[in-house]
Amino acid sequence: MTQFRDMRRKRQQLSEEENIAILKEATSGTLALLGDDGYPYAVPLSYVYHEGKLYFHSALSGHKVDAIRRCDKASFCVIGQDDVQPKEYSTFYRSVIAFGRIHIVEDEQEKLETARMLGNRYNPNDDERLQKELEGSFSRMLMIRFDIEHLTGKESIGLMRMRH
Ligand SMILES: Cc1cc2nc3c(=O)[nH]c(=O)nc-3n(C[C@H](O)[C@H](O)[C@H](O)COP(=O)(O)OP(=O)(O)OC[C@H]3O[C@@H](n4cnc5c(N)ncnc54)[C@H](O)[C@@H]3O)c2cc1C
Repeated sequence: MTQFRDMRRKRQQLSEEENIAILKEATSGTLALLGDDGYPYAVPLSYVYHEGKLYFHSALSGHKVDAIRRCDKASFCVIGQDDVQPKEYSTFYRSVIAFGRIHIVEDEQEKLETARMLGNRYNPNDDERLQKELEGSFSRMLMIRFDIEHLTGKESIGLMRMRH
């Protein structure tokens, strides 16, 4: 079992609830994978968070899919806030980083349910349109599941002082 690192600056660490709130609010993040020839591959993606897991959709092939098939260890980073404070040479930031295992969803029922979840996140309450969209694209897409093993959130000192 991997011993994930502790954050050095503990007072800037966000709570589990705050981490999840950021994941639920942000609309995209960057997925880091082991790419070709040992080069990390960091790719921006839309996602949905649900009960300790992240779900992504993807085309059937490509760099991302090759990397996922090669190595199931991944990291995902979401920036929740980035308000540059020019005069301070700083930024009021909040971000979340997840580590975990990533897999292509093989089970058809899970694929359908999670594709619906993702669609509903970005266009809620439009089942008819989503159904049509899925009918057209389901066989040409993959769903990818990221099981979160370790999740941390951090905010800048400036933001922390302003909030407390
Ligand atoms: C905000 C946002 C949300 C997105 N949401 C999704 C999503 O939900 N699902 C999805 O499949 N894709 C999404 N994309 C596109 C995604 O970033 C990738 O371009 C796409 O998934 C194809 O990845 P691939 O590895 O299969 O591409 P490939 O074409 O196989 O990648 C080959 C090479 O192209 C370059 N490349 C690929 N993607 C990008 C990129 N985004 N920017 C710059 N260079 C790139 C890299 O050098 C890469 O090594 C999103 C992009 C953004 C910015």
